[in-house]
Amino acid sequence: MKKLLPTSTVGSLPKPTWLSTPEKLWSPWKLENSILQEGKQDALRVSLQEQQLAGLDIICDGEQTRQHFVTTFIEHLSGVDFENRKTVKIRDRYEASVPVVVDKIARKKGVFVEDAKFLRKQTNKPIKWALPGPMTMVDTLYDDHYHSREKLAWEFAKVLNEEARELQDAGVDIIQFDEPAFNVFFEEVNDWGMAVLEKAIEGLHCETAVHICYGYGIKANNDWKKTLGSEWRQYEEIFPKIQKSNIDIVSLECHNSGVPLELMELVRGKKIMVGAIDVANNRIETPEEVANTLRKALKFVDIENLYPCTNCGMAPLSRPIANAKLSALSKGAEIIRKELGI
Ligand SMILES: [Zn+2]
Repeated sequence: MKKLLPTSTVGSLPKPTWLSTPEKLWSPWKLENSILQEGKQDALRVSLQEQQLAGLDIICDGEQTRQHFVTTFIEHLSGVDFENRKTVKIRDRYEASVPVVVDKIARKKGVFVEDAKFLRKQTNKPIKWALPGPMTMVDTLYDDHYHSREKLAWEFAKVLNEEARELQDAGVDIIQFDEPAFNVFFEEVNDWGMAVLEKAIEGLHCETAVHICYGYGIKANNDWKKTLGSEWRQYEEIFPKIQKSNIDIVSLECHNSGVPLELMELVRGKKIMVGAIDVANNRIETPEEVANTLRKALKFVDIENLYPCTNCGMAPLSRPIANAKLSALSKGAEIIRKELGI
Protein backbone atom coordinates (compact mmCIF):
# COMPACT_ATOMS: atom_id res chain seq x y z
CA MET A 1 0.00 0.00 0.00
CA LYS A 2 1.62 3.30 -1.08
CA LYS A 3 -0.68 5.64 0.87
CA LEU A 4 0.06 5.78 4.57
CA LEU A 5 -2.78 4.96 6.99
CA PRO A 6 -5.02 3.37 4.33
CA THR A 7 -8.57 3.09 5.67
CA SER A 8 -11.03 0.24 5.27
CA THR A 9 -13.86 -1.59 7.01
CA VAL A 10 -13.59 -5.07 8.50
CA GLY A 11 -16.07 -6.39 5.95
CA SER A 12 -19.83 -6.37 6.30
CA LEU A 13 -21.89 -3.22 5.75
CA PRO A 14 -25.66 -2.65 5.90
CA LYS A 15 -27.54 -3.79 2.82
CA PRO A 16 -30.12 -1.65 0.96
CA THR A 17 -33.62 -2.12 2.41
CA TRP A 18 -34.93 -3.41 -0.94
CA LEU A 19 -32.49 -6.32 -0.75
CA SER A 20 -32.99 -7.50 2.85
CA THR A 21 -34.43 -6.28 6.15
CA PRO A 22 -31.89 -3.93 7.74
CA GLU A 23 -30.28 -4.07 11.19
CA LYS A 24 -30.69 -7.83 11.41
CA LEU A 25 -28.26 -10.76 11.14
CA TRP A 26 -29.27 -13.71 8.90
CA SER A 27 -31.87 -11.39 7.32
CA PRO A 28 -33.63 -13.21 4.44
CA TRP A 29 -33.42 -11.88 0.87
CA LYS A 30 -36.38 -9.89 -0.42
CA LEU A 31 -35.71 -10.84 -4.06
CA GLU A 32 -35.53 -14.19 -5.84
CA ASN A 33 -33.61 -15.99 -8.60
CA SER A 34 -32.22 -13.81 -11.40
CA ILE A 35 -33.68 -10.64 -9.87
CA LEU A 36 -31.85 -11.47 -6.64
CA GLN A 37 -28.64 -11.88 -8.64
CA GLU A 38 -29.13 -8.47 -10.24
CA GLY A 39 -30.07 -6.96 -6.87
CA LYS A 40 -26.88 -8.26 -5.26
CA GLN A 41 -24.75 -6.72 -8.02
CA ASP A 42 -26.56 -3.39 -7.66
CA ALA A 43 -25.99 -3.55 -3.90
CA LEU A 44 -22.27 -4.08 -4.57
CA ARG A 45 -22.31 -0.92 -6.72
CA VAL A 46 -24.09 1.08 -4.00
CA SER A 47 -21.76 -0.18 -1.29
CA LEU A 48 -18.70 0.68 -3.39
CA GLN A 49 -20.07 4.18 -4.01
CA GLU A 50 -20.75 4.72 -0.29
CA GLN A 51 -17.27 3.52 0.70
CA GLN A 52 -15.71 5.83 -1.89
CA LEU A 53 -17.82 8.79 -0.75
CA ALA A 54 -16.73 8.08 2.83
CA GLY A 55 -13.14 8.34 1.58
CA LEU A 56 -12.03 4.76 2.25
CA ASP A 57 -8.82 3.62 0.58
CA ILE A 58 -9.34 -0.16 0.54
CA ILE A 59 -12.72 -1.30 -0.74
CA CYS A 60 -14.62 -4.32 0.61
CA ASP A 61 -17.64 -6.03 -0.90
CA GLY A 62 -19.58 -5.02 2.22
CA GLU A 63 -20.74 -8.67 2.22
CA GLN A 64 -23.66 -7.51 0.05
CA THR A 65 -23.95 -10.88 -1.70
CA ARG A 66 -24.06 -13.03 1.43
CA GLN A 67 -26.66 -13.52 4.11
CA HIS A 68 -24.11 -14.33 6.81
CA PHE A 69 -20.31 -14.34 6.94
CA VAL A 70 -20.06 -18.04 7.78
CA THR A 71 -23.24 -19.82 6.69
CA THR A 72 -23.30 -18.45 3.13
CA PHE A 73 -19.90 -20.00 2.45
CA ILE A 74 -20.98 -23.30 4.00
CA GLU A 75 -24.16 -23.34 1.85
CA HIS A 76 -21.94 -23.71 -1.21
CA LEU A 77 -20.23 -26.87 0.07
CA SER A 78 -21.36 -30.44 -0.36
CA GLY A 79 -21.44 -32.71 2.67
CA VAL A 80 -23.55 -30.30 4.74
CA ASP A 81 -27.25 -30.78 5.51
CA PHE A 82 -29.12 -27.48 5.84
CA GLU A 83 -32.56 -29.11 6.25
CA ASN A 84 -32.11 -31.07 9.47
CA ARG A 85 -30.43 -28.45 11.62
CA LYS A 86 -29.16 -28.78 15.18
CA THR A 87 -28.83 -26.25 17.94
CA VAL A 88 -25.29 -25.57 19.19
CA LYS A 89 -23.69 -22.98 21.40
CA ILE A 90 -21.61 -20.63 19.23
CA ARG A 91 -18.32 -19.39 20.74
CA ASP A 92 -19.52 -20.90 24.07
CA ARG A 93 -21.83 -17.86 24.16
CA TYR A 94 -25.20 -18.09 22.39
CA GLU A 95 -27.37 -20.82 20.93
CA ALA A 96 -28.12 -20.96 17.22
CA SER A 97 -29.75 -23.42 14.85
CA VAL A 98 -26.98 -24.55 12.53
CA PRO A 99 -26.44 -26.91 9.57
CA VAL A 100 -24.98 -30.40 10.11
CA VAL A 101 -21.89 -31.92 8.49
CA VAL A 102 -23.09 -35.34 7.29
CA ASP A 103 -20.46 -36.33 4.70
CA LYS A 104 -17.05 -35.43 3.29
CA ILE A 105 -16.76 -31.65 2.70
CA ALA A 106 -16.14 -30.42 -0.85
CA ARG A 107 -16.44 -27.11 -2.69
CA LYS A 108 -18.54 -27.60 -5.79
CA LYS A 109 -17.67 -24.29 -7.44
CA GLY A 110 -16.49 -20.77 -6.63
CA VAL A 111 -18.53 -19.14 -3.87
CA PHE A 112 -17.68 -15.43 -4.22
CA VAL A 113 -15.40 -15.54 -7.26
CA GLU A 114 -17.92 -14.08 -9.72
CA ASP A 115 -18.85 -11.34 -7.20
CA ALA A 116 -15.16 -10.48 -6.82
CA LYS A 117 -14.70 -10.27 -10.60
CA PHE A 118 -17.73 -7.97 -10.76
CA LEU A 119 -16.44 -5.66 -8.02
CA ARG A 120 -12.95 -5.66 -9.56
CA LYS A 121 -14.39 -4.20 -12.77
CA GLN A 122 -16.00 -1.30 -10.86
CA THR A 123 -12.96 0.19 -9.13
CA ASN A 124 -9.20 0.63 -9.43
CA LYS A 125 -8.77 0.85 -5.66
CA PRO A 126 -7.35 -2.12 -3.73
CA ILE A 127 -10.01 -4.69 -2.82
CA LYS A 128 -10.16 -6.71 0.38
CA TRP A 129 -12.33 -9.83 0.55
CA ALA A 130 -13.27 -11.59 3.79
CA LEU A 131 -13.79 -15.32 4.16
CA PRO A 132 -14.71 -17.16 7.35
CA GLY A 133 -11.73 -18.70 9.12
CA PRO A 134 -11.64 -22.51 9.43
CA MET A 135 -11.93 -22.57 13.24
CA THR A 136 -14.87 -20.15 13.22
CA MET A 137 -16.59 -22.30 10.57
CA VAL A 138 -16.18 -25.40 12.75
CA ASP A 139 -17.72 -23.45 15.60
CA THR A 140 -20.75 -22.43 13.53
CA LEU A 141 -22.11 -25.89 12.65
CA TYR A 142 -22.71 -29.36 14.05
CA ASP A 143 -20.29 -32.12 12.98
CA ASP A 144 -21.86 -35.55 12.54
CA HIS A 145 -19.17 -36.92 10.19
CA TYR A 146 -15.56 -36.13 11.13
CA HIS A 147 -16.18 -36.10 14.91
CA SER A 148 -13.10 -33.95 15.38
CA ARG A 149 -12.96 -30.14 15.34
CA GLU A 150 -9.37 -30.28 14.13
CA LYS A 151 -10.03 -32.71 11.25
CA LEU A 152 -13.04 -30.72 10.10
CA ALA A 153 -11.02 -27.48 10.28
CA TRP A 154 -8.36 -29.02 7.97
CA GLU A 155 -11.07 -29.92 5.46
CA PHE A 156 -12.43 -26.36 5.60
CA ALA A 157 -8.90 -24.96 5.17
CA LYS A 158 -8.52 -26.94 1.93
CA VAL A 159 -11.73 -25.55 0.40
CA LEU A 160 -10.99 -22.05 1.70
CA ASN A 161 -7.59 -22.22 0.04
CA GLU A 162 -9.22 -23.16 -3.29
CA GLU A 163 -11.58 -20.20 -2.95
CA ALA A 164 -8.81 -17.81 -1.87
CA ARG A 165 -6.63 -18.72 -4.86
CA GLU A 166 -9.51 -18.00 -7.24
CA LEU A 167 -10.33 -14.71 -5.48
CA GLN A 168 -6.68 -13.73 -5.86
CA ASP A 169 -6.84 -14.58 -9.59
CA ALA A 170 -9.99 -12.45 -9.81
CA GLY A 171 -7.91 -9.46 -8.70
CA VAL A 172 -8.50 -9.33 -4.95
CA ASP A 173 -5.56 -7.59 -3.23
CA ILE A 174 -6.11 -8.67 0.37
CA ILE A 175 -7.81 -11.87 1.50
CA GLN A 176 -8.98 -11.77 5.10
CA PHE A 177 -10.03 -14.67 7.28
CA ASP A 178 -12.50 -13.87 10.05
CA GLU A 179 -11.56 -15.79 13.19
CA PRO A 180 -13.56 -14.46 16.16
CA ALA A 181 -13.24 -18.01 17.54
CA PHE A 182 -9.50 -17.31 18.04
CA ASN A 183 -10.48 -15.06 20.93
CA VAL A 184 -12.21 -17.89 22.77
CA PHE A 185 -10.41 -21.20 22.11
CA PHE A 186 -6.78 -20.22 22.83
CA GLU A 187 -5.53 -23.75 23.41
CA GLU A 188 -6.92 -24.93 20.10
CA VAL A 189 -5.45 -21.90 18.30
CA ASN A 190 -2.02 -22.76 19.62
CA ASP A 191 -2.48 -26.51 19.08
CA TRP A 192 -3.82 -26.53 15.54
CA GLY A 193 -5.87 -23.37 14.75
CA MET A 194 -2.98 -21.29 13.48
CA ALA A 195 -1.50 -24.22 11.51
CA VAL A 196 -4.88 -24.74 9.86
CA LEU A 197 -5.10 -21.05 8.98
CA GLU A 198 -1.66 -21.29 7.37
CA LYS A 199 -3.07 -24.07 5.20
CA ALA A 200 -5.88 -21.73 4.10
CA ILE A 201 -3.33 -19.11 2.89
CA GLU A 202 -0.90 -21.62 1.34
CA GLY A 203 0.46 -20.52 -2.05
CA LEU A 204 -1.16 -17.06 -2.00
CA HIS A 205 0.93 -14.11 -3.18
CA CYS A 206 -1.67 -11.43 -2.43
CA GLU A 207 -1.72 -10.02 1.10
CA THR A 208 -3.46 -12.04 3.79
CA ALA A 209 -5.21 -10.90 6.95
CA VAL A 210 -6.79 -12.44 10.01
CA HIS A 211 -9.59 -10.56 11.77
CA ILE A 212 -10.00 -11.32 15.46
CA CYS A 213 -12.62 -9.38 17.38
CA TYR A 214 -15.09 -9.55 20.23
CA GLY A 215 -18.01 -10.00 17.85
CA TYR A 216 -20.78 -8.01 16.25
CA GLY A 217 -22.65 -5.53 18.43
CA ILE A 218 -25.39 -8.02 19.30
CA LYS A 219 -26.73 -8.60 22.82
CA ALA A 220 -25.00 -11.97 23.43
CA ASN A 221 -21.62 -10.43 22.59
CA ASN A 222 -22.23 -7.21 24.51
CA ASP A 223 -23.25 -9.23 27.60
CA TRP A 224 -20.14 -11.41 27.26
CA LYS A 225 -17.89 -8.35 27.08
CA LYS A 226 -19.29 -7.18 30.42
CA THR A 227 -17.89 -10.36 32.02
CA LEU A 228 -14.35 -9.81 30.74
CA GLY A 229 -13.27 -7.32 33.40
CA SER A 230 -11.46 -4.04 32.84
CA GLU A 231 -8.57 -5.48 30.83
CA TRP A 232 -9.28 -7.78 27.89
CA ARG A 233 -6.07 -9.77 27.48
CA GLN A 234 -7.36 -12.50 25.12
CA TYR A 235 -5.04 -11.37 22.31
CA GLU A 236 -2.04 -12.02 24.55
CA GLU A 237 -2.71 -15.79 24.40
CA ILE A 238 -2.57 -16.05 20.63
CA PHE A 239 -0.37 -13.19 19.38
CA PRO A 240 2.96 -15.02 19.86
CA LYS A 241 1.72 -17.74 17.51
CA ILE A 242 0.41 -15.20 14.99
CA GLN A 243 3.71 -13.30 15.11
CA LYS A 244 5.51 -16.43 13.85
CA SER A 245 2.93 -17.09 11.10
CA ASN A 246 2.91 -16.06 7.45
CA ILE A 247 -0.20 -13.90 7.89
CA ASP A 248 0.59 -10.33 6.76
CA ILE A 249 -2.12 -8.31 8.53
CA VAL A 250 -3.89 -8.66 11.89
CA SER A 251 -7.27 -6.90 12.27
CA LEU A 252 -8.10 -5.99 15.85
CA GLU A 253 -10.79 -4.41 18.01
CA CYS A 254 -9.39 -1.36 19.84
CA HIS A 255 -11.71 1.66 20.21
CA ASN A 256 -14.06 1.49 23.25
CA SER A 257 -12.73 -1.95 24.07
CA GLY A 258 -10.86 -3.19 27.11
CA VAL A 259 -7.92 -4.35 24.99
CA PRO A 260 -4.65 -2.92 26.35
CA LEU A 261 -3.08 -1.48 23.19
CA GLU A 262 0.43 -2.44 24.30
CA LEU A 263 -0.49 -6.05 23.41
CA MET A 264 0.07 -4.98 19.78
CA GLU A 265 3.77 -5.00 20.64
CA LEU A 266 3.50 -8.82 20.55
CA VAL A 267 2.81 -8.75 16.81
CA ARG A 268 5.32 -5.96 16.02
CA GLY A 269 6.33 -6.21 12.36
CA LYS A 270 2.90 -7.35 11.19
CA LYS A 271 0.54 -4.85 9.61
CA ILE A 272 -2.27 -4.01 12.00
CA MET A 273 -5.80 -3.04 11.07
CA VAL A 274 -6.57 -0.95 14.14
CA GLY A 275 -10.27 -0.87 15.03
CA ALA A 276 -10.92 2.83 15.59
CA ILE A 277 -14.70 2.67 15.14
CA ASP A 278 -17.01 0.96 17.63
CA VAL A 279 -19.64 -1.14 15.85
CA ALA A 280 -21.57 -1.99 19.02
CA ASN A 281 -23.33 1.35 19.44
CA ASN A 282 -24.98 4.02 17.30
CA ARG A 283 -22.93 6.95 18.54
CA ILE A 284 -20.87 8.43 15.71
CA GLU A 285 -17.23 8.85 16.66
CA THR A 286 -15.73 12.27 16.05
CA PRO A 287 -12.71 12.40 13.72
CA GLU A 288 -10.67 13.55 16.74
CA GLU A 289 -11.67 10.42 18.69
CA VAL A 290 -10.54 8.28 15.76
CA ALA A 291 -7.27 10.23 15.60
CA ASN A 292 -6.80 9.67 19.33
CA THR A 293 -7.07 5.89 18.97
CA LEU A 294 -4.63 5.96 16.05
CA ARG A 295 -2.18 8.14 18.02
CA LYS A 296 -2.23 5.63 20.89
CA ALA A 297 -1.76 2.71 18.47
CA LEU A 298 1.20 4.45 16.83
CA LYS A 299 3.18 3.88 20.05
CA PHE A 300 3.12 0.16 19.27
CA VAL A 301 2.73 -0.02 15.48
CA ASP A 302 5.07 1.52 12.91
CA ILE A 303 3.18 4.04 10.79
CA GLU A 304 3.71 2.12 7.54
CA ASN A 305 2.04 -0.88 9.21
CA LEU A 306 -1.00 0.91 10.61
CA TYR A 307 -4.27 0.46 8.72
CA PRO A 308 -7.18 2.37 10.33
CA CYS A 309 -10.27 0.18 10.35
CA THR A 310 -13.51 -0.61 12.17
CA ASN A 311 -13.67 -2.93 15.20
CA CYS A 312 -15.81 -5.47 13.34
CA GLY A 313 -18.42 -5.68 10.59
CA MET A 314 -21.25 -3.15 10.43
CA ALA A 315 -24.08 -5.32 9.10
CA PRO A 316 -26.29 -4.80 12.20
CA LEU A 317 -26.12 -0.96 11.96
CA SER A 318 -28.36 1.37 9.95
CA ARG A 319 -26.91 2.72 6.70
CA PRO A 320 -26.80 6.40 7.71
CA ILE A 321 -24.97 5.51 10.93
CA ALA A 322 -22.53 3.16 9.21
CA ASN A 323 -21.77 5.78 6.55
CA ALA A 324 -21.23 8.52 9.13
CA LYS A 325 -18.88 6.25 11.10
CA LEU A 326 -16.86 5.44 7.96
CA SER A 327 -16.60 9.11 7.13
CA ALA A 328 -15.30 9.79 10.66
CA LEU A 329 -12.72 7.02 10.14
CA SER A 330 -11.23 8.62 7.04
CA LYS A 331 -11.33 12.12 8.54
CA GLY A 332 -9.58 10.82 11.66
CA ALA A 333 -6.83 9.21 9.57
CA GLU A 334 -6.45 12.50 7.68
CA ILE A 335 -5.89 14.37 10.97
CA ILE A 336 -2.92 12.10 11.71
CA ARG A 337 -1.52 12.38 8.19
CA LYS A 338 -1.62 16.20 8.47
CA GLU A 339 -0.16 16.11 11.98
CA LEU A 340 2.80 14.07 10.74
CA GLY A 341 3.19 16.17 7.60
CA ILE A 342 2.35 13.30 5.26
ZN1 LIG B 1 -15.46 -9.12 13.90
